[in-house]
Amino acid sequence: MTESDLGGVNENTYSYQQATMSSHQQKSSIPNDTIKQLDQFINASPSPWHAVEQAASLLNQQGYTRLDESSGWQLQHGGKYYVIRGESSIVAFSLPSQLDQIPRFNISAAHTDSPCLRIKPNPVIRKDDLSFLGVEVYGGLMIATCADRDLAMAGRVTVEQNGDLHNLLFRQSDASLRLPTLAIHLNREVNEQGLRFDKQTEIPLLCTQADLSDTLNFKSWLAELLNKDNQTSLPASAIESWDICVFDTQQGSRWGKSQEFYANSQLDNLASCHALLSGFLDTQAPDNQINILALFDHEEIGSQSFKGADGPFLGDVLQRLREHLKLSEDTYRASLAKSKMISADMSHAYHPSHSKFYEPEHKLKVNHGPAIKINANQRYASDAPSVAFFQQLCKKANVPYQLAIHRTDLACGSTLGPLASSQLGILTVDVGNPMWSMHSLRESCGTLDHHYLTRVITTFYQGG
Ligand SMILES: [Zn+2]
Repeated sequence: MTESDLGGVNENTYSYQQATMSSHQQKSSIPNDTIKQLDQFINASPSPWHAVEQAASLLNQQGYTRLDESSGWQLQHGGKYYVIRGESSIVAFSLPSQLDQIPRFNISAAHTDSPCLRIKPNPVIRKDDLSFLGVEVYGGLMIATCADRDLAMAGRVTVEQNGDLHNLLFRQSDASLRLPTLAIHLNREVNEQGLRFDKQTEIPLLCTQADLSDTLNFKSWLAELLNKDNQTSLPASAIESWDICVFDTQQGSRWGKSQEFYANSQLDNLASCHALLSGFLDTQAPDNQINILALFDHEEIGSQSFKGADGPFLGDVLQRLREHLKLSEDTYRASLAKSKMISADMSHAYHPSHSKFYEPEHKLKVNHGPAIKINANQRYASDAPSVAFFQQLCKKANVPYQLAIHRTDLACGSTLGPLASSQLGILTVDVGNPMWSMHSLRESCGTLDHHYLTRVITTFYQGG
């Protein structure tokens, strides 16, 4: 099966073999560089703050200029810029050289956050002679997948330096935290009942800093980690507060007979962020088109925040663009009406061992192209025109696509598409590459799908 043969595929009969490819096809079509770059991006992004730092670094390498939201902007035709809000959401845009008609905005959006455990403000808990760190559950994490893994901390810390507050990022290089399970001999029902944890009493993480006894100790340890990563010499007393994620120290890996699958944590949704970013960086905005990339924090907890997709961030950037491009209110509204947004968030690949959870006529196959998500109740923003638009884009990019819909008797998930589009009034399609084990600490997707989505996004930004 060649890539061109796949155009528009949405076969209803699933066979596991179809999710994999012949070794001949693999050798000729798997994009090694793309997956290597994806791997580097995710491994370097153990928290949403790191993900945005990575995105900014890639944008800098391509000549993008950072704009400060709290200062006036100077923009030029043909210029390339980005804005960061709250250090974990970012909007980048490239302006066309020519703007002599009503411009349109070509926007793609994804989210930078992933479900995880987060360290509490007074985290230290002593149990007998062992130290534990108290954690909150961020988003819909499958807690059991954190058990017996090599965990560590990464995030941002707000410190006071010379009377000013600064945010510094850090990540541990070695595993220091663990959620040990109870032996099956003491939990005989575990295979029948599932691996369950009481969220208040059973998920505090065993910490290898055995001498931790209180918050002050914890801050001293944190100061060491911060100073190491930032070449600073801050005392523990400089630490005011923190947002710290717990992450899996295991790096990403390719697997499968022909390495056609890729496993890592946070594929939802850093894989989409990376595909969008790659397509965005690949293109220069054509005349009368403004290319915009929006990566938002807080999707996993509903997107309602000052920097989330259901907040004002993207609209604020568009308004400032409007002023700088000297678009009248009337022209700006006309621009929004002719604009399009692609919201990308991973989707659920069919799992033959759990077939009863899937809609029989819409089984998503890994490595068969991005899925277009549809829901009559607008849990996804897609509608007939936006679905048709994305299908046409896929055909132009010579990329297969699939149609995704939930079982009618199963509650449908949602994503940032309906929220961002209702803020802006822009026609939107929700899409996402199929993956297994969503919200597990070790998720899996298809290598070819990542390449496909990147290609569609490139075509979109080229004016498709
Ligand atoms: Zn997601």
